[in-house]
Amino acid sequence: MSAANEQLIRDIVSEVLGRLGGKPASAKPLASAESAAPAAAACGCGSKGTAVSTPGLRGKFGVFADANEACVAAQESFLQLQQQGVAARVKIVEIVKAMAEANAEPWGKIELDETRIGRLDHKIEKLKIIKLVPGVEWLRPDARSGDHGITLEEYTPFGVVGAVTPSTHSIPTLSGNIVNIIAAGNAAVFNPHPSAARCAAIAIRAFNEAIYREIGIENIATIIEKPSMESFAAMCKHDVVRLLLVTGGPGVVKAAMQTGKRAICAGPGNPPVYVDDTACMKRAAKAIIQGASYDNNLLCIGEKEVFALENIADKLMSQMEQNGGVKLTSIQLEALTKAAFTITPGQGGGCGHAAVNKDFIGKDPSVLARAAGLNIPAGTQLLFAETDADHPFVVEEQMMPFLPITRVKSLEEGVARSLVAEHGYKHTAIIHSHDVEAMTAMGRALDTTLFIKNGPCMAGLGLGGEGYLSFSIATPTGEGVSNPRTFTRVRRCVMVDNLRIY
Ligand code: NAD
Repeated sequence: MSAANEQLIRDIVSEVLGRLGGKPASAKPLASAESAAPAAAACGCGSKGTAVSTPGLRGKFGVFADANEACVAAQESFLQLQQQGVAARVKIVEIVKAMAEANAEPWGKIELDETRIGRLDHKIEKLKIIKLVPGVEWLRPDARSGDHGITLEEYTPFGVVGAVTPSTHSIPTLSGNIVNIIAAGNAAVFNPHPSAARCAAIAIRAFNEAIYREIGIENIATIIEKPSMESFAAMCKHDVVRLLLVTGGPGVVKAAMQTGKRAICAGPGNPPVYVDDTACMKRAAKAIIQGASYDNNLLCIGEKEVFALENIADKLMSQMEQNGGVKLTSIQLEALTKAAFTITPGQGGGCGHAAVNKDFIGKDPSVLARAAGLNIPAGTQLLFAETDADHPFVVEEQMMPFLPITRVKSLEEGVARSLVAEHGYKHTAIIHSHDVEAMTAMGRALDTTLFIKNGPCMAGLGLGGEGYLSFSIATPTGEGVSNPRTFTRVRRCVMVDNLRIY
């Protein structure tokens, strides 16, 4: 055989091995991989700011114009990940967590610049806390040992997971989803929200560049650069996509459930808060302001309406004023309502429908205050006002730094009104009380995925309460706060009559 032919064969073998999961010569072997923090710094995405340029993102390191190509590339990377084993997953999780933290400031800023919703300080914080998302350590197998041998149940990957992310937390959801999905051994394809797609593509590219440099896998998480309903449909339909994860409102949840594929749906919420006369008013007021003002109330778990027992309602509102809240008069409330909703009158004198005005979603309290006709002091966190229980601010998931407060006469009324306001989403509910029976009654009646007592909403995600973080809380489909196990298939391995060692 000629030297040229030998070289050709060597090249082909090397290419095939590379595709099957071998590393290119430039990739570092895992055994010698340094910690992720230096990796993040080395790729130019360290704490000094991202060096990722925006033009020419397409077609490399995870960013694709075509949904089918994004799916195929993710599948190839999934096979490579399988070859490289658990150590590679651990490495990827480390890289993503370290880079989300190191790039929190520039990425928070580009996300805010693109979406124009929320607050910079909280956009940054949401990236810094990606380290609280659980990783590979969550996949400990279950074992049984008995007279008839040993059985092992392992948490194994599906393959490629097709994911949809919201405009409210684009890079944080993407980063947290990557950690969970890849810790479980899968690859991911993202169809992001069109109004938060550019920042998501920047993060995906940076993650893939760093991952490629460390372990030679180029497209473990891919993204469709210009997402659309068509690209969503193509992603869902693609053969390699075995599982869907959608995070968003009612439209995308319905669409995902109609695909015929298994879908994990992190759907909408409208979390009610009930406050009774056994609660500490100062603590309750502080917690309510903290939760409802976070990122200008963009959180799906965020406090959206308060039902306060009538004998403490004034005290609660006074404490809210002392902790960063500004109370609107009924005239100011009327002006804000007119600006924040388009009300379509119901037929035959019915109550009609209120559509949220998108120009006010996630905007600063000063923008809402202007619409209400008042100036507010700098540092105001939240506006609030007394309303009826059927006010649009109570009924709609409004995602603005405004909170309606409704007086109720009893626990029964508070729970009943909370149940109506929550719309059966079974998402999140909050109580401030020291009455265990009231807590139990509300918890049972609301039947929500998160039920928080005496803290702000974020305590339900391990931020001030016990637990772990995810930005995708699977509500209608029941998986709860998603974690690596959510993205696994359970497979059983049985040895009959042997391997039991006593
Ligand atoms: P959205 O529903 O407008 O968009 C979410 C995603 O779904 C986007 O990528 C969008 O392009 C896509 N989408 C929307 N309708 C679709 C359809 N019919 N077919 C295919 N794709 C579709 O939501 P948003 O405004 O970006 O985010 C806010 C909503 O998401 C709120 O309802 C909030 O409660 C919910 N949310 C839930 C969680 C959770 O963990 N449960 C987390 C964040 C946000």
